[in-house]
Amino acid sequence: MKFRRFLVHKDSPGLRYGKIEEKMGLHGSMTGDIILEDCQVGEEALIGQIGEGWRILAQLGNSMRAWGAASIALGIAQSALNHAVAYSKDRHQFGKRLGDFQALRFMMADMAMQLEAARCLVRETNRRVDIESPNVSYPTMSMVSMSKCFATDMAMKVTTDAVQIFGGYGYMKECPVERLMRDAKVFQILDGSNQVQRMIIGSNLLKA
Ligand SMILES: Cc1cc2nc3c(=O)[nH]c(=O)nc-3n(C[C@H](O)[C@H](O)[C@H](O)COP(=O)(O)OP(=O)(O)OC[C@H]3O[C@@H](n4cnc5c(N)ncnc54)[C@H](O)[C@@H]3O)c2cc1C
Repeated sequence: MKFRRFLVHKDSPGLRYGKIEEKMGLHGSMTGDIILEDCQVGEEALIGQIGEGWRILAQLGNSMRAWGAASIALGIAQSALNHAVAYSKDRHQFGKRLGDFQALRFMMADMAMQLEAARCLVRETNRRVDIESPNVSYPTMSMVSMSKCFATDMAMKVTTDAVQIFGGYGYMKECPVERLMRDAKVFQILDGSNQVQRMIIGSNLLKA
């Protein structure tokens, strides 16, 4: 089968939108189906050559996962850590700041360690993708999957821990980390789920 990629203008006849979904998080971005029915486009809409569609999609995947999902996950986690640290300096219980309890200080140390480890991996991956594009090697493609998987799993853990540090207030809608935890979840699912990323990493190991 020869894969083709097309650019379809939003006003093209035959293009319509499905229902806008109500989501757990990521409310800053609308999600819905794009339905193409008897939609015709001219040759000028073709991206690349006929038969190159899959290669272009794979290339796009490399950039989207490392620059997109993985990098967004870093931002979400950094924000959660910043909120947790600020709250732990401000909130007092049993005559101490929350941050003076070793259990919480260690939790924040782990959050910072995991975040910095993910940041190093994502930066190094993006550096390699930049150098190798468009012919990204299998080891670098594995690193793209590792970055996406590691950074998004890290963001889920860090945001969940941030909610814990806020205690009951962390569960309230008005608390900023509640939103960050819901937003983090989707990045483990979209852009190739983290199970699929692990399949890619594993099969690339066996190719070597
Ligand atoms: C908010 C949001 C925005 C999205 N935006 C886009 C978009 O812009 N463009 C787009 O194309 N898609 C988009 N998606 C779809 C997204 O890419 C898919 O939801 C995702 O790839 C998972 O596919 P699925 O939902 O069909 O789950 P399924 O494939 O049904 O998977 C269900 C579960 O089984 C696991 N699983 C599936 N197959 C395997 C396997 N072989 N081995 C091990 N585990 C497996 C999955 O990891 C998952 O945990 C979006 C989804 C969401 C939630």
